[in-house]
Amino acid sequence: MNILIINSGSSSIKYQLLEMPSSRVICVGSIERIGSTDAISNYRTDNNKVEKIYEIANHKAGLERITSLLLDAEIGVLKSTEEIDAIGHRVVHGGSDYTATTLVTEEVKEKIKILSPLAPLHNPANLEGILMAEQIFAIAKQMVVFDTAFHGTMPVKAKKYAVPNELYEKDGVQAYGFHGTSHKYVSEKANEYLNNQHTKLISIHLGNGCSITAIQDGKSIDHSMGFAPSNGIVMGTRSGDIDHSIIFYMVNTLGYDLNEVSELLNKKSGMLGLTGFNDLRDIEEEASKGNKQCILALEMNAYRIKKYIGAYTSAMNGLDAIIFTAGIGENSSLMRQLICKDMEYFDLNLDDSKNDLRASNLRELNTEDSKVKILVIPTNEELEIAKQVYQLLSK
Ligand code: ADP
Repeated sequence: MNILIINSGSSSIKYQLLEMPSSRVICVGSIERIGSTDAISNYRTDNNKVEKIYEIANHKAGLERITSLLLDAEIGVLKSTEEIDAIGHRVVHGGSDYTATTLVTEEVKEKIKILSPLAPLHNPANLEGILMAEQIFAIAKQMVVFDTAFHGTMPVKAKKYAVPNELYEKDGVQAYGFHGTSHKYVSEKANEYLNNQHTKLISIHLGNGCSITAIQDGKSIDHSMGFAPSNGIVMGTRSGDIDHSIIFYMVNTLGYDLNEVSELLNKKSGMLGLTGFNDLRDIEEEASKGNKQCILALEMNAYRIKKYIGAYTSAMNGLDAIIFTAGIGENSSLMRQLICKDMEYFDLNLDDSKNDLRASNLRELNTEDSKVKILVIPTNEELEIAKQVYQLLSK
């Protein structure tokens, strides 16, 4: 079965074509900077690797470009779009109605639209991707995997806010949790590696978006993002936790309007707001040259993550392993070192020489005598989505 995974962001489309159940990756690619005259298309198969710049006005043009690559006589991998059996779309917000992989219906599309105000950077782009894929790959089964799904197991005491009950019961005001596909994938890998399904894990996903999940016996029991993917730890451009009084102060006293506040907290805050840089590699380089703002931002970032580790260890009454994943978690030895520093109280001890080794596989970075394991597990959201789509279609 050929399954195409589509992950549409606000200005990008990432995709992977997998053969299931073998999990063989047939091709992988992305288009970034959609909406510009210099969008970058990357496309890779076993035999070819192509990077090109195009004018790509919108997601439809992006998906058409991807289709022409897939069907290309020289570097393509398909003869017809009908060779794709199913498409798995990553959708960020599924609310509380969808806790499993779901076939796309009019109702599902409507729900993704209704939930757009809760994930304004993601849901509209995700829906756009679905609508375009329905036109281009008319025969394929269209399925969605929601980032919120894995967190459906969070107990009410963890997901409910201390506001009048009516908001929870009637209006769906609660913490939903995000990056679920990634947290699910790496925690299952960790349990396989530890040869134990009854573990207490803290999964730390550090990419452009960043989140932490407490996972007990394979189930999400608490999570750092909340009602929308904006809460929690410091992210590339999102503030994470702030006192909501700041919003009222900005509007009532400083004269911002609500859209400006939203834009500022989602797109201009986080590491970008603190340093002027969004990409952690630039921030690390600046910090190494003595840039004080960058040094402080790295320390703030690590400090907040440490606090979540403490909170979730107490929520689970124990900890077997922490997992680092995604772009920063998998690659930044500096962030891992700052986070794991001074954690002897938790019996969590990083082996610096293992931490400094560059690798791309699942690995253990703790010292021999550390009770808590420190794992790096490369995430693979595309494979996890393909597995879920395959399972649903094989039922
Ligand atoms: P997304 O959420 O878009 O999937 P990724 O998981 O690809 O994001 O992570 C992107 C982040 O990973 C960027 O901030 C980038 O700087 C960081 N990153 C990637 N490689 C490295 C590296 N070698 N060292 C430090 N940070 C890195």
